Amino acid sequence: MIDVESFLGIADLLPEPMFLINRQGKIVSANTPAMEILGYRPADNPGLTFQDVVCDPKRKINEYLRACFRSAELVLGAVDLRSMSGDVIAARVEGCLAQYRTDRHQSLVLLRCLDKRKSNARFLALNDRLDEITRERLSLYQSGDDMRELQRLALVDSLTSLPNRRSLDKNLDFEWKRASREGKPLSTILLDIDFFKAFNDTYGHLAGDGCLKEVARTVQIASQRPADLTARYGGEEFAVLLPATEREGAVIVAERIRKEVERLGILHAASDINDVVTVSLGVATIVPTLDVSPLELLSKADKALYQAKAAGRNRVHIWGRALPQEQDEQITPTNTGKGNVQEFRCKSNA
Ligand code: GH3
Ligand code: MG
Ligand code: MG
Repeated sequence: MIDVESFLGIADLLPEPMFLINRQGKIVSANTPAMEILGYRPADNPGLTFQDVVCDPKRKINEYLRACFRSAELVLGAVDLRSMSGDVIAARVEGCLAQYRTDRHQSLVLLRCLDKRKSNARFLALNDRLDEITRERLSLYQSGDDMRELQRLALVDSLTSLPNRRSLDKNLDFEWKRASREGKPLSTILLDIDFFKAFNDTYGHLAGDGCLKEVARTVQIASQRPADLTARYGGEEFAVLLPATEREGAVIVAERIRKEVERLGILHAASDINDVVTVSLGVATIVPTLDVSPLELLSKADKALYQAKAAGRNRVHIWGRALPQEQDEQITPTNTGKGNVQEFRCKSNA
């Protein structure tokens, strides 16, 4: 059975605006069509409530949401949505309870907005309790295979076939909780291709895509444990999540990635620092606790990556001291011979 997080990934692939709304009427999440139609980004407006984006009286909306939370069936309704620019969009809505795991207090209402003119739009809403209802309504994605394919698509980057950012976030969350329970360190590496805009400008976007695929494969191979996760973090940035890995181990993986990318020997005539494509890497290690957001880890690695760029690129920087003190270290190659095993020494910058 699909969970809400996976659902959100899938919802992004569907044309209808969809919202997940909690018991307080707050919009917990919305898919891309919902954001587009309203001109909002709920993620940037954490206080945004569903009442804020509809023209109807609060009382009517609250009643409707309460009915959704009470019912095990679809609850149909009609609302006038208000876009950020003030336009009014008349929508038919279908709301259903989407149980979040097994915790009733965390249950959400999944609301799908349909254009009033469209009568036969597709429906996709899944949760444990509504299994039977939703199964009937999966007219578009009828077979289990299709469903699995949709789930896969929602978590995979189409160019590189690596897990995407959504997948990374899911895994980071999971590993963060596990590591905090077990008191183990969690490491991450963020890396970014050097002068990649110039690469695209010189060799074209298609060659750029080819380069991204090769780098993606190299990064994935360099992290070898089964629990390690390599993801495409953004355009030309990748992230490696290394559970139960100390800083020293993460640095070894980062340095291996750096060397292996250089060893690919992808010509880069427009690079200021090398004849071939190189990457800069930031490493961060934290022993997680539940009062700290997992995003801290990415933020530390990002800072270290920024420093690696500023220090000249094609190098590894480390953020690795205990919170809240920040201290960076730089890994400096001492032997630049291509194809050789490079030795490196740690030099404290603090
Ligand atoms: P730096 O060394 O500071 O990282 O410089 P940069 O040029 O790599 O950094 P910048 O962020 O300016 O450029 C990133 C480039 O990555 C710009 C964008 O065109 C390219 N890019 C992002 N995603 C893709 C993609 O999917 N395919 C291709 N071909 N290029 C992409
Ligand atoms: Mg970048
Ligand atoms: Mg770059």
